[in-house]
Amino acid sequence: MLLYNTLTRRQDAFAPARGGTVRMYACGLTVYARGHIGNFRTFVALDVLRRTLRHVAGYDVRQVVNFTDVDDKTIRASREAGVSLREYTDRYIAAFREDAGALGIEPVEEYPRATDEDNLRAMVDMVKALEARGHAYRSDGSVYFAIATLPEYGRLARLDHDGIKPGVRIDADQYAKQDARDFVLWKATEPGEPTWDFGIGPGRPGWHIECSAMALRLLGEPPIDIHAGGVDLIFPHHENEVAQSEGASGRQFARFWVHVEHLLIDQGGKMSKSEGNVLTVRDILDRGHRASALRYVLLSTHYRKQLRFTWGSLAQAEEALTRLTDCLARLDTVAKDGSHPALETRAAAARTAFADMLRADLNTPGALGVVFELVRDVNAAIDAGEIGRDDVRLLREAFEYCDRALGVISLRRAEEAAPPVPVEEIERLVAERQAARRCRDFAVADRIRADLEARGVVLEDGAAGTRWKRG
Ligand code: AMP
Ligand code: ZN
Repeated sequence: MLLYNTLTRRQDAFAPARGGTVRMYACGLTVYARGHIGNFRTFVALDVLRRTLRHVAGYDVRQVVNFTDVDDKTIRASREAGVSLREYTDRYIAAFREDAGALGIEPVEEYPRATDEDNLRAMVDMVKALEARGHAYRSDGSVYFAIATLPEYGRLARLDHDGIKPGVRIDADQYAKQDARDFVLWKATEPGEPTWDFGIGPGRPGWHIECSAMALRLLGEPPIDIHAGGVDLIFPHHENEVAQSEGASGRQFARFWVHVEHLLIDQGGKMSKSEGNVLTVRDILDRGHRASALRYVLLSTHYRKQLRFTWGSLAQAEEALTRLTDCLARLDTVAKDGSHPALETRAAAARTAFADMLRADLNTPGALGVVFELVRDVNAAIDAGEIGRDDVRLLREAFEYCDRALGVISLRRAEEAAPPVPVEEIERLVAERQAARRCRDFAVADRIRADLEARGVVLEDGAAGTRWKRG
């Protein structure tokens, strides 16, 4: 499998370093707000990478996706909201899980939070190792990484060494390339900020040390196979992660660096919270669109190209998905027994072509193209009556094979099987109706039943109580 590697700036042949398990780390959400669909572009692209490694390339995957639950932004936002950092970030972790589930993103093996004690201790251990190896120094109670001590500093981001200002310090978590400076590893306590003391003075971690420490704690000996995130993370975040991990261990940190291009807004630039131009998965659903259509839009552009989001693209995705599910429904109507060798060959060819597309640096638009060529040929065979039940089985298996990597058909099926009203809400309304009936308030009881029916849920009263079903 070929994968574009930011470290080498070319497509390299990928295989895990050890055995059949890929060890992968992806930078997760900074949980100071609900993730937007730009964030989810990156998460969906990395979900397809994970699925391709598992279902197309046949590897096991051990993947870590962190939650950045302490940094400049989360601290500022929780203070403004007047709640503790933990309580504040819990909300957006729950929202992430909800949105990731809606988009059919496979759960990964580990979701560490930076503020869990085991992780904080791992960060402190890494800072100590950096001090012991002469890469870190203290100033005013904080600990900084001395970039001049690592000649390779800047290799991932291809920094121009004239721009590097060794000895000049920066405390902010985010900064620009021209400000390549000694960055903070552990920040001395500031009034009103959360603080921990595990042996390098009271304070809190800088953003970059979190990922280095959690990646190595949970994935084991370096080098890990893949480290991933959006392109905005190449500098300073990933450059600094390399510096910390390699400075502390003396070994390469990650063999492959995978970066996903940005989602842009219609007629504008990058979608980002700081620009105030964000849309969330919930916003899309509230407008009556389905998450499967959004997932389709996100897959229809190659992950290394910018993707401009438009409402029109969602409508087109809806049409494409309907064409696909209509074709699968037509397959169910084939009644004739028998098989046609040409269709057997066609199904096998589609599987191979599909796998080749994804093996070529995750060419998802090409892979979708293969699926729709198969749709066209299947429809033609059905129209001509040249298809039997044995062919149907092979063709269905071919579509299922493709969907294990794409995850759109399965998501659409899950959406169709889900009740139109959330189960908790139905149960709450059934209980309210029961209570109304006990008080002989039949007008209220009837209104609840009629409202639910209008939303596609029918109530049936029986001896054992009230049951509900889809209308
Ligand atoms: P953050 O919460 O800002 O740390 O970002 C979480 C992930 O989303 C990171 O991998 C970012 O690179 C990625 N990301 C942020 N904005 C966008 C965007 N507009 N398009 C694609 N990925 C993004
Ligand atoms: Zn990170």
